[in-house]
Amino acid sequence: MLNSPNNQHRLATLHRRWEESLARTGHGAASCARHGLDPVVLLVGLATKLQGSKSMKVADHFYIYLWNNPRENNCNTIFIDGKVPLLIDPGHLHRVEDLSNRMIQDGVDPTKVRVVICTHVHPDHFGGAAAFKHAKIAISREEERFVEEVAAPMYAKQGAKMPEYKIDFDLTDGDLTLGKHEFQILLTPGHSPGGVSIYWPRYKTLFPWDVVFSQSIGRVDLPGGDIKALKESVERLADLNVDLVVPGHGPAIQGADSVRSNFDFIKKAFFTAV
Ligand SMILES: [Zn+2]
Repeated sequence: MLNSPNNQHRLATLHRRWEESLARTGHGAASCARHGLDPVVLLVGLATKLQGSKSMKVADHFYIYLWNNPRENNCNTIFIDGKVPLLIDPGHLHRVEDLSNRMIQDGVDPTKVRVVICTHVHPDHFGGAAAFKHAKIAISREEERFVEEVAAPMYAKQGAKMPEYKIDFDLTDGDLTLGKHEFQILLTPGHSPGGVSIYWPRYKTLFPWDVVFSQSIGRVDLPGGDIKALKESVERLADLNVDLVVPGHGPAIQGADSVRSNFDFIKKAFFTAV
């Protein structure tokens, strides 16, 4: 089926549409400089057992893109299809091509994305949003206040320019409905001053991004980092009823018992002295 002439034609069409979209927005592969690895990724690489790179189609409309190969490093990305196709954390701008190729392989048209949620504005999560000019971009109001202060030094450190960006709407703590999908947005500062986590009750799934990883937590030594705030954020997330955690980097944590043990481990390992 995958190699049928019809499917090949569909994939070729999706590729062409995406290339045209990138060309229109000026973010084609040729215009994207290659930059070094993000330090957050390196930390996670040390602290967690990384899986091989793979896409995971959890349900018809729910796709997880895990990135664990250092050669194609990026943050994990979520695509949720529906009336308002949603992408959460597109990753580095210069990795958007990798992401779009994966989506196309799954038969997903990247140009159909209408909302891009960025959990925080570090380059390895937020940079790629600039490539989705046809989508509305959302971050928290708190993070927007800090965007220049938090993100700009990190781009500069990597020898990259802040991409041109526009924020179309603010994420606030509470419910967010997109089409038929209902999410809860939780302000979870500590790694970044206005970072958010996203909880999807329908699948008891949590996207805590760089707050919680498998056996680790996000860095607090970056601009705007705060260990006390991170501890409170972790405690808030630990109270949720969760069967699947997809962090910003590294492997997913599956099963309520594994999720619980991961929170217990983190509290003991990182917060006993805070
Ligand atoms: Zn980060």
